Amino acid sequence: MIENYLPLAYLNAWEYCARRFYLEYVLGEMEDNEHIILGRHIHRNINEESILTEGDTVIRQQQWVWSDQLKVAGIIDAVEECNGQLVPVEYKKGKMAQHLNDHFQLCAAAICIEERTGRSIPYGDIFYHANRRRETVAFTPQLRQATEQAILLAQNAATGAMPSPINNTKKCQSCSLQRICLPFEVKALRAHNQSQI
Ligand code: SF4
Repeated sequence: MIENYLPLAYLNAWEYCARRFYLEYVLGEMEDNEHIILGRHIHRNINEESILTEGDTVIRQQQWVWSDQLKVAGIIDAVEECNGQLVPVEYKKGKMAQHLNDHFQLCAAAICIEERTGRSIPYGDIFYHANRRRETVAFTPQLRQATEQAILLAQNAATGAMPSPINNTKKCQSCSLQRICLPFEVKALRAHNQSQI
């Protein structure tokens, strides 16, 4: 059942933080912060399925893709086609900085498109809104393997216990779920309990 396939967007959450993935995907927790609202804002012009043409390039926006092999599904922001080559494209609000979570999401979408079309996709692009840069991501065998591994781990984690908070203050301070997750409070409580043993 495709409804039970892992959504591509949650693969991004998984790589960011396993606990965030669990809170969102398994427990259905959602909370806005400035990063979420900004992300929604920059998607306002590309949030409907449509087909555009720019020169020799046909751009299909908001394409639903899935892989029966990997059991993942979701929407890719755009699939560009030029000279017979398909290029998946994601739009992100942040700055270009080799974000592995974004690479996994894009690579998983490419694998879905390959499965649906039977065509080979060697690379995709991520447009980073904060510095208006477009990063080309090569779908190397290593990235494909790491992406498939992340999908498997995320699918398994969804049936397990909630992971502990990560040790990454910067990520936690940017995380919209911080007030639900309470990472610093959980860690302080655990440290206190340990000291009582
Ligand atoms: S606050 Fe930190 S530990 Fe909690 S979900 Fe967010 S990133 Fe993960």
